[in-house]
Amino acid sequence: LVELKNVKKSFRLGGEQVEILHGIDLVVEKGEFVAMMGPSGSGKSTTMNILGCLDKPTSGQYFLGGRDVSKLKSDQLAAIRNSTIGFVFQGFNLLQRTSAVENVELPMLYAGVHAKERRERAKEALVRMGLGERLYHEPSQLSGGQQQRVAIARGIVNHAPILMADEPTGNLDSKTSDEIMRLFQQLNREEGITIILVTHEPDVAAFAGRELLFRDGTILEDKINERQRT
Ligand code: ATP
Ligand code: MG
Repeated sequence: LVELKNVKKSFRLGGEQVEILHGIDLVVEKGEFVAMMGPSGSGKSTTMNILGCLDKPTSGQYFLGGRDVSKLKSDQLAAIRNSTIGFVFQGFNLLQRTSAVENVELPMLYAGVHAKERRERAKEALVRMGLGERLYHEPSQLSGGQQQRVAIARGIVNHAPILMADEPTGNLDSKTSDEIMRLFQQLNREEGITIILVTHEPDVAAFAGRELLFRDGTILEDKINERQRT
């Protein structure tokens, strides 16, 4: 489903090009649940931004659903992103003073879905996340775990086949974080959504079926999780 071939990424820092990713090779098949681990600054978010079509490689290729997207123009990349990938961010990125259901409608607004269908689908996604009783609450009226569930509802509302999350449990206590990970696991197992997430926590990564260990802009280790947590 996604394939990186010798992907390098450099950033300009103080007039100098600094290489951050040194040739990443990675294949993720449909239906996998992958956790990206590694120290701060090792290139996890940079890799995820490329996988999520938010950024492009400096060199190398990125095949998404068999298509090389590494040289597409930004607007073409955005169109592919909107139809293929859902996102969940750390700190939720929810609009304040905006109800849960309106927050979840946002990606569909960008995709041009009609108002009535937007509302239906947003409600449905929130109900699936166990928030049927919280549709019109604003983020400030919700707990951290509930806010993250709103963010996940927003991530899946477009029915994208891939869901990406950068530190989705970063702001949560361990019990709430386990609940959120079980929701990801459920989406992966029951709906076949391919999930790629970044985490610092080994206990969180243990819910995934596969763990990638990043170190200094390369993948140092790539291992199947024999005993996936549930
Ligand atoms: P963390 O666990 O702290 O989130 P990370 O593994 O996600 O770390 P990245 O965000 O991928 O790390 O960053 C890797 C390196 O690339 C860092 O040294 C960072 O300073 C650098 N970097 C990332 N984005 C940019 C940018 N837009 N411009 C310049 N340097 C960048
Ligand atoms: Mg990061």
